Amino acid sequence: MAHLLDGQHLAARVEQEVRERVEAFVRARGVTPCLAAILVGNNPASAVYVRNKTRAAGRVGIRSETFHLPEESTQAEVLELVERLNARRDVHGILPQMPMPPQIDPEAIFERLDPRKDVDGLSPYNAGRLALGRPQLVPCTPLGILALIRQTGVSLVGKHAVVLGRSSLVGKPTALLLLGEHATVTLCHSRTENLAEHTRRADVLVVAVGRPRLVTAEMVKPGAVVIDVGINRVDGRLVGDVDFESVREVAGWITPVPGGVGPMTIAMLLQNTLQAAQIQVAADAPVP
Ligand code: NAP
Repeated sequence: MAHLLDGQHLAARVEQEVRERVEAFVRARGVTPCLAAILVGNNPASAVYVRNKTRAAGRVGIRSETFHLPEESTQAEVLELVERLNARRDVHGILPQMPMPPQIDPEAIFERLDPRKDVDGLSPYNAGRLALGRPQLVPCTPLGILALIRQTGVSLVGKHAVVLGRSSLVGKPTALLLLGEHATVTLCHSRTENLAEHTRRADVLVVAVGRPRLVTAEMVKPGAVVIDVGINRVDGRLVGDVDFESVREVAGWITPVPGGVGPMTIAMLLQNTLQAAQIQVAADAPVP
């Protein structure tokens, strides 16, 4: 039976650590880190995510502001808000909550975002730095995934890590982080042939697809670390991309859904917001 990787517990520890670091930063610099969330339209799930994130910010002493624009906002209006927040010295992190209504191009927003305030790590600058092996602000979910894997004590060096899903938000940056830890990485997607042949060779399997219970016990190597990123609503219940009940019989470690990667994503957003404030305050400091 697999050990449970408890994201809630680890996230609480990370929060505690970030709170202490925020306190020290405020004492040393006289600046309170501030996160600005941009919410466009009426997606109820997005509203809940933003509320959870701003509440968590409050718990660790990070100030937050939420900018809620109407569903029919134009691309120009959202970009104008991004520019205003880029220019505000008291705002250190900007979080455009996705998904946005179809008339808004997310790429354009991340291109316009000041990379020093890009706490989701999705701007071309930060994505490029990660690809070059010189990460600065890294997407929150992949950072949370790596922290959970570290909890197992299993070294990634030379191990075979298989990632299902190649999105810019989760799959691709996770693969790059694992590569940075010297794992041998296979990145699978919807066109991958013989998916199970790849997954069965994984010492570490990260699943970020958005298909309920796609990964079953026969697809998992005995003893593997299995990280389930998926969030799917089935019959009013949240389930992951991994068939938890069968896979826990085979895996060495497994994350639950909910209570695995989700809380870690929020904890890493707080960490990134503090880091963003540190980057900006350091840039403002006079040259000695
Ligand atoms: P996404 O942008 O829709 O990407 C899904 C990826 O899965 C794509 O690369 C797609 O391949 C691949 N895929 C689809 N069907 C597949 C199949 N049958 N076999 C193998 N690969 C397949 O989704 P995302 O933003 O990465 O999110 C993935 C899941 O994680 C969703 O359930 C989302 O809700 C969840 N999520 C959770 C958190 C959290 O904090 N826990 C954060 C972000 C996302 P192609 O590229 O070929 O289309």
